[in-house]
Amino acid sequence: MPDALTFAIRRAGREDEAWPGYLLRNAGENYVSGLAGFGKPYHLSPDQLLNLGPEVVLPLLSGKACALPSSSRPSHSRAALNPAGRMHRCRICPQCWREDNDPYARAVWDQPLSLYCVRHKRLLLDACQACGRELDVRRRVLLSCDCGASFLNQTTSAAQPWVVGMIQKLIDPADCQREAQFAAASASERSAARFLRRLAQHSRGEVDLFDGAPRIFTSVVPTSDLPALATWFKNWPHGFISSLRCAQESLNRLAMWSDLNRKYHVDRFPGFVCIEEAMKEALFEQRRTERDTYGIRELQRITKHSHRTIERWTDAGLFPPESQVIDPVTGANRLAVSRALFLHIQRAYRAVANVPESAEVLGCSERAVRGLIACGALSAVQPPIVKRSFLVKRRTLPRLKQRLFKMVRVCTRRFAGGERLSFSECVSFNHSPSGPRWKRALDFIDRGLLRLYSDSAVLGRLDDIFVLRSDLRRCGLLRP
Ligand SMILES: [Zn+2]
Ligand SMILES: [Zn+2]
Repeated sequence: MPDALTFAIRRAGREDEAWPGYLLRNAGENYVSGLAGFGKPYHLSPDQLLNLGPEVVLPLLSGKACALPSSSRPSHSRAALNPAGRMHRCRICPQCWREDNDPYARAVWDQPLSLYCVRHKRLLLDACQACGRELDVRRRVLLSCDCGASFLNQTTSAAQPWVVGMIQKLIDPADCQREAQFAAASASERSAARFLRRLAQHSRGEVDLFDGAPRIFTSVVPTSDLPALATWFKNWPHGFISSLRCAQESLNRLAMWSDLNRKYHVDRFPGFVCIEEAMKEALFEQRRTERDTYGIRELQRITKHSHRTIERWTDAGLFPPESQVIDPVTGANRLAVSRALFLHIQRAYRAVANVPESAEVLGCSERAVRGLIACGALSAVQPPIVKRSFLVKRRTLPRLKQRLFKMVRVCTRRFAGGERLSFSECVSFNHSPSGPRWKRALDFIDRGLLRLYSDSAVLGRLDDIFVLRSDLRRCGLLRP
């Protein structure tokens, strides 16, 4: 290109500067408009300038001899995008620019998963607030949008903790490779970003998670996807895993996991290890239920009962004598329970709750639960085989709670100290609505003589309910 102009690329690149941003920063001084202006004398498109990279482009622009790689022959017609796919989309932190003496674009901002500025913990700007257009590296000047609005006075919102947590789970945001001068995204980061975009599309109901969805090319997660992603990541990792499980309820789990891995290489990310484990666990469970018999350890794990309890089931003859088999691997005695029998036992146990579970459902102490069982408020049941253990009908738990909360008169008045008594205290200390008096207490509650109060606006725990000592005394329920 004998007649090509040469440019003065005088401004030294910063050690963490982005390649397109660096070209844009030099554009003003050379009186050219954006990347297109630089490429024009060389018949190179902005995409080609980006893809050829600084090693080729900088000597070329400053007039030094340089041979273009044969694969990227200058052409206006088609942008020869290399497989690494430099993106046009970019992001900026206006606050960083306001603090800069000579504002420059950080390489790390353009990485696919850079949703927030690590320094200011604020979301990066990826669309112009004046015109709504996505920020594009092919704009005319660095510091303002093509609509004329300056980015310096645009504002960004604080990065929510779940966004920060999500990114930290997927990648190492402080990795110096990401922040290096003219850095390009790694393959893992691009696949993570594609995965997030697919999840966002899926939560909006636009595509299936795996099948029949169009391929995602631009692997930059836009902030507009965050509301859709929040549903998956807010309670990381629990929320995400259970959502993922729900999403693939009908599919074969193993197929889904290999599908995920093949498409997004999710096993490359540290944060996804827990998903892989959950998947394997789910798979294990699936195989377990498909098998005909269960071992004693499996029974323990599934029923959440102790080894002794299972042994008692065996002693009581719940399992047929031939259920003792020799484990082919360990050679030890192994309990082999038929699947049908197991399902029967499981059904029986699903209908009952033990004391800790009941306390959790009701929102009170275990002592209160034992009190409630003793006074007949919760119906104790005889589970198969296991005797003398406190078990209640699962159905009665929400029913009791519902009944009591229905009768609560929410009282905003402050009570003098010592006058009130928590409802579960009443029960557990055997103060009043106990024993044969439970029915009487209910009667008083129904007639409005024994009033239930609560301070909390949201009723959920039995411990939030309390009664007045004076009411108890009036009803004759308080032990002298
Ligand atoms: Zn910043
Ligand atoms: Zn604009």
